[in-house]
Amino acid sequence: MIISSAMENSFYSIRMRASSREKHLSGGERLVPRNEISAVVAALTEQGLLAADGQADVVQCRVERIATATLRYGVLPDVSTRAVRNDHEGRLLAVRLLERAGVAAQVAQGAIQLLADGPGPGGTVMRGAVIMDARNGQRLEPDPNRGVRASRMDVTPDCRFKLTRLLQEHDLGHRRVGEALVLAGKVLSASGLVAELCWSDDPNYTTGYVAAPAFGYRRISALKPSGDPRGGRVFFVESGTSIADLVVYLEETPVLFVDHGTISPAQQWESDDA
Ligand code: AMP
Repeated sequence: MIISSAMENSFYSIRMRASSREKHLSGGERLVPRNEISAVVAALTEQGLLAADGQADVVQCRVERIATATLRYGVLPDVSTRAVRNDHEGRLLAVRLLERAGVAAQVAQGAIQLLADGPGPGGTVMRGAVIMDARNGQRLEPDPNRGVRASRMDVTPDCRFKLTRLLQEHDLGHRRVGEALVLAGKVLSASGLVAELCWSDDPNYTTGYVAAPAFGYRRISALKPSGDPRGGRVFFVESGTSIADLVVYLEETPVLFVDHGTISPAQQWESDDA
């Protein structure tokens, strides 16, 4: 059978969502060629079933063909890690990095407090991210309950092969690191984006990161105390950024990363470092 080159080169977005009684438990995002769909749907379904100790009662996978003309290509940010002694040091470092990226100091501190308190209504965890004006700290996401979800991003099969090996060589082989790196890559590629702050809502995962064009994806070994179920993401934007355009870009525009950046060994952070 002859397959037209357009069909052959088609990419498909696969999005997984696992939930329990409407509560979001786990999500997954991939952009894959036609021949990988079955395997990736199986793997993501398994990932959803295993989430939160197997509590999911619904696991949905949605497969959509991407219009090739809408696909954008990029290179992933550089990865570096700073080991801190505790979450107090980690948050101090996060504020310094955010300031370096162009976020006002008070706004950076306010964003950290927001994630520490739980950014959703009544101190809950959001499914998506907060969008915040980097100058005045105003919250700009259209729905503060849900937040904005970065979606439709992945690495090419060749990049995945190289990146997986490189991350493993640096003891960063956990799926979480690769996924967050790809998400941060898409976020940083958005117009008007100044920086991203993230730590997980998983009580057992205390490492978080600050990402910005100037220094890439910088992991910080502790951004919250162990056992804390709160977390989230903040996308800082320049004043005047079109939020409607940003949300469409983050949620809908497919972005494929064709190469990775550098990955540096972890370094102990000293408080006089930036
Ligand atoms: P996680 O690192 O997966 O534990 O996610 C930490 C927090 O980031 C979640 O509580 C959400 O608020 C937010 N988040 C997770 N996935 C996304 C996404 N795809 N886009 C935007 N925010 C997200």
